[in-house]
Amino acid sequence: MPLFLFDRLRHSVRQLQGNIDPHSLRFRLTVGVAAVAALGMGGVALWTSWKMQDLLIVTHKQKVQYLVDRFPEDVERYSEMKSAQVGLQPAIDRLGANNIWLWVKDTRGRVVAQSMALEGRSDNTRMLLTQASQNWIVPRISRLNDRDFMVCSVPLKVKGTDLGQLYVAQDITEDREMFAGTIRSLGIASLLAIALMTVAIAVYVRRSLRPLCQFDRLTAKISAEDLGQIQISLDRAPSEVRKLTQTFNMMLDRLSQSWEQQRQFMGNVSHELRTPLTLVSGYLQSTLRRGNNLTEPQREALSIAASEADRTVRLLQDLLDLARADRGYLPFHLEPVELNELLSEVANMGRQYAQREIIWNDRGTLIKVKADRDRLQQVLINLIDNAVKYSPSGEAVTLHLERCDREAIVRVCDRGVGIPLQHQSRIFERFYRCDEDRCRTTGGSGLGLAIVKTLVEEMGGRVTVRSTLGEGSIFSVFLPLDSSEKI
Ligand code: ADP
Repeated sequence: MPLFLFDRLRHSVRQLQGNIDPHSLRFRLTVGVAAVAALGMGGVALWTSWKMQDLLIVTHKQKVQYLVDRFPEDVERYSEMKSAQVGLQPAIDRLGANNIWLWVKDTRGRVVAQSMALEGRSDNTRMLLTQASQNWIVPRISRLNDRDFMVCSVPLKVKGTDLGQLYVAQDITEDREMFAGTIRSLGIASLLAIALMTVAIAVYVRRSLRPLCQFDRLTAKISAEDLGQIQISLDRAPSEVRKLTQTFNMMLDRLSQSWEQQRQFMGNVSHELRTPLTLVSGYLQSTLRRGNNLTEPQREALSIAASEADRTVRLLQDLLDLARADRGYLPFHLEPVELNELLSEVANMGRQYAQREIIWNDRGTLIKVKADRDRLQQVLINLIDNAVKYSPSGEAVTLHLERCDREAIVRVCDRGVGIPLQHQSRIFERFYRCDEDRCRTTGGSGLGLAIVKTLVEEMGGRVTVRSTLGEGSIFSVFLPLDSSEKI
């Protein structure tokens, strides 16, 4: 076989091995049905060959028995008025054939007549056949010198005279070899049929399970956000799978309702808690400002309480924003926003608030987008805040602005800890945090990026992340350009 063909075959086998899952329904059904089919076919093939062999033996036995029964009549007919011995040879010549030999031994054991075909053979053959057929008045199979014979011997009595013993032997080797050849072909044909059947069953099972795979693909795409909108429908699926789909859709409805209730609950709780906590925070701040007679430990305790209250108010505000955005109640005032100016502003805020070098590379080209200025500011502050939180204190955070087709791209880059690849697709989920130990020290809530994503998407944009562990991260915010911008 040419080398490239061998390589391709090896590649296909390896691919097939990779695709085979011994625990899958497809594999089990294919193997199960193929095994039953193979057993059925094998059983039929075995039964047929056994029956055929039986039939062959019975036919030969009947033939020999017929000769044995017929021989005395023929001897009688050929001897007519003469002595019975005269009729022996003509009867043998008439009944014998190339592979059917007859011979007669008189009462003293001498051969008195025999088939012509036996004459050419050694006495040894006749002797062995005589021994094999001795005492067998019913025909039976005997193997001599690698050949098979149907042999039989009976006492011969004609016209009341005892003529000795009649021996009959039929060489059935060729018939048996022919039969063995037929069985071999039947075996090969059965094996081929089983192999073809297995392939056909595998294809059929695969096609039958296609609706289930389709179901799996469709359900894998469902996220918490589209629970209420998605209904699975499969075309030309069997009724069992259609029923499963209906049940699943009903479950989706129930899930969506409880998800909605949970969101409402979160929104209500955030709303109810935010006002008193804002008050508490305000009182704490003012007590700290005016309390000149406070001792140092009291001041420290009050400032911890104030900062925790502040943090919780921010968290509640984030939750409230998300709950409103989910229900479409978060108002957005879309207007032309000049990004260059907004970026200098947030860079300044970041420098003051985080005491960190924030580099803003303004290349001078003015870029305007259609966005809600305050929300966009919130987005950028969240990203800068994260860049600061997750990078060492000496490292600067860099802001870039560029234009690409109909979009403006703002990039917030840091040289911090980076985000492991397996977390990158999930960090925009609510309350998702990569590494609890690392996050505990930064004091985040896991809502910052969820807010960023929601706000950016509400403004018609998108946000992506590129990060290398230990080297840093780049968060890119894509926003649609204002229509007054020339493309
Ligand atoms: P948190 O309040 O925990 O910062 P976020 O939603 O802002 O929540 O971020 C989610 C997670 O993404 C964080 O817990 C952090 O592990 C990771 N992350 C976000 N920004 C960065 C960044 N610039 N560098 C490294 N990890 C980051």
